[in-house]
Amino acid sequence: MSGRSVTRRNVMRGAVLLGVGVAAGGVNLSARSPAHAAVPSPTIHGTDAWNARPSRTAVTVRDHRPDKIIVHHTATGNRDDLSLDWAYTLSRAIQNWHMDHNGWIDTGQNFTISRGGHITEGRHRSLETLRGGVSFVHGAHAGPANGSSIGIENEGAYVSVAPTDTLYESLVDFCAYTCHQYDVEPARIFGHRDFMSTQCPGNVLYGMLPQLRRDVADRLGQSPPPLRWPTVIRGDGGERVRTVQHLLRHHGAGIAADGGFGPITENAVKAFQTDAALNADGVVRQETWQELILALRRGSAGEGVRAVQRQLHYQGFTTAVDGQFGPGTDRSVREFQARHGLTASGVVEPPTWRALVA
Ligand SMILES: [Zn+2]
Repeated sequence: MSGRSVTRRNVMRGAVLLGVGVAAGGVNLSARSPAHAAVPSPTIHGTDAWNARPSRTAVTVRDHRPDKIIVHHTATGNRDDLSLDWAYTLSRAIQNWHMDHNGWIDTGQNFTISRGGHITEGRHRSLETLRGGVSFVHGAHAGPANGSSIGIENEGAYVSVAPTDTLYESLVDFCAYTCHQYDVEPARIFGHRDFMSTQCPGNVLYGMLPQLRRDVADRLGQSPPPLRWPTVIRGDGGERVRTVQHLLRHHGAGIAADGGFGPITENAVKAFQTDAALNADGVVRQETWQELILALRRGSAGEGVRAVQRQLHYQGFTTAVDGQFGPGTDRSVREFQARHGLTASGVVEPPTWRALVA
């Protein structure tokens, strides 16, 4: 580790001496999307600041950008100590647990935010690569998504209560900066449970993610944030993938609605795109969504209804997932529409579909 640490210090010192901030180091800033306004970096305390142990072996640096951010909660106590000292202590405790109990090479997540809003680097080199904006550190926080995401652990347990305002504000700052550095769409901020079977990041924090995406979009100068159909691609997981799968099944695909976007789903998307005279690239974007969805109302039945019911259920509505659009589903749809500023018609048309999967 020492060789790399020296290199890193030199890079940081060089950047400071040049007076250009730590985003220097030969990175081609012009490669970044001009759509994003400049976003200042929040203060992020590196592993040196909190006296991290060296990683057991060299961390893996991916030579491409991550395409998403994954939000976690630590599921530890909701302490009242908001100090920087405590944030450092917490970072050390997490690293010890991950190395000594889990047997990992280092802290699992890339970054951590304490309840006091202090942001610390988790796995070594996560900060240096974030500054560079072209590579990132492969962490251990979200199974199959580790190789394509930045993991952010938020101190506390958010199953039934919300995080502190200070933590939330730092999370917005951190996500905005990270989206800017890596050119990640705010819509691609996810919860851990979107990729694995887990409660994480708790129902309350998970329920705050739509607001977080809006706040981050705001910060990036995308105001008002465009309501876009999300892009769903191979490697993705969770309810949005399940929705795609149910809709593909509606259109005759013999695939499982298991929430995992693997080669079978990709082939089904390509076949559907071919039939619909779309570019058969296997990626679900606006044009494909618009062909996949169908208008649903009370009395409808089948896979499309199941897709709607699963989304509603997942988003906290007490809706049966039985494929029958009855009075219960009708009530939930109207309530969902009202909450999202849509006409509470009970009819699931494109704007409602888009809000459901956004
Ligand atoms: Zn998690």
